Amino acid sequence: MYDLIIIGSGPAGLAAAIYAQRAMLKTLVLEASYVSGGQIINTYEIDNYLGFPGESGMELGKAFREHADKLGAEFVTARVTGIDAGDVKVVHTKKADYEAKAIIIATGAVNRKLGVAGEEELSGSGVSYCATCDGAFFKGSDVAVCGGGDVALEDALYLARGCTKVHLIHRRDEFRGAKCLEDQVRSTSNIEIHTPAVIKEIKGNGVVESIVVENTGTGSVEELPVKGAFIAVGMTPNTGFLKGVVELNEGGYVVAGEDTKTSVPGIFAAGDVRTKRLRQVITAAADGAVAVTYAEEYIREH
Ligand code: NAP
Repeated sequence: MYDLIIIGSGPAGLAAAIYAQRAMLKTLVLEASYVSGGQIINTYEIDNYLGFPGESGMELGKAFREHADKLGAEFVTARVTGIDAGDVKVVHTKKADYEAKAIIIATGAVNRKLGVAGEEELSGSGVSYCATCDGAFFKGSDVAVCGGGDVALEDALYLARGCTKVHLIHRRDEFRGAKCLEDQVRSTSNIEIHTPAVIKEIKGNGVVESIVVENTGTGSVEELPVKGAFIAVGMTPNTGFLKGVVELNEGGYVVAGEDTKTSVPGIFAAGDVRTKRLRQVITAAADGAVAVTYAEEYIREH
């Protein structure tokens, strides 16, 4: 039996692996894919992780994994299908079952995609899912933001500080995000609101050059020249295997505070998978460290 099983090998899971090795806990890291690093491996450049300005997401992910390997962390590639949350915790995977005293869930979340032509091909080359990560690369350019929630409104305001023009495209006339944010957006002179409107296509030869937008009220279609297309239409946490195991909120995120404790003693949640405000590499890594601290305390007491 392991002391600790960490599910997921993004920044939260790998930080937890490092802390668990240093705490000399018998630990297993289960990862769903053969490449560690999580979401960042698809990020062209990470400019907001302390000490590594301009590092590629792939390189940062590799460095995190190498650090965990150097400390002797044990990894198994196996997709988790379920958990039995008794005193001894059993993690079921497609390959085998594994037992542990405590579990850290660090399975992250994936950005919801628009599913339009050009989105996938130009992802990382002008199509971005994180304005605070990538916005600085578009200073002085025209960009678009798609979505109508808090994140889209905050992204539009953030980008408007450095970009020449921000086109905000939302599928309904009413915004889902906070009224105070909407008011700020409406009073920002370089944000142009397009509603009810959808992006039909993202165009570009290697990098984003324009988006095709349809006003679904009038049926009119226009092509807007932009260098960046920021998609902010929500996230989907990877928690399907946790239904009925720990408390999830209405969005599917694991309910856990800054102490990473979930509704089940001995199960902790770190990184983007848990309820939190700022989902970034730096906060995910911090969560991993915090989760091991509380997991170690739990293991010692049980
Ligand atoms: P969200 O609130 O779920 O909003 C997603 C937006 O994307 C909605 O406006 C939705 O349109 C739109 N959308 C969804 N699928 C789409 C599609 N296929 N095509 C076009 N548009 C689509 O997600 P979020 O903005 O990422 O925020 C996530 C959570 O974090 C929310 O609970 C939010 O309140 C919270 N948050 C809070 C703060 C804050 O307190 N300051 C800051 C950031 C985030 P509809 O409106 O038509 O459904």
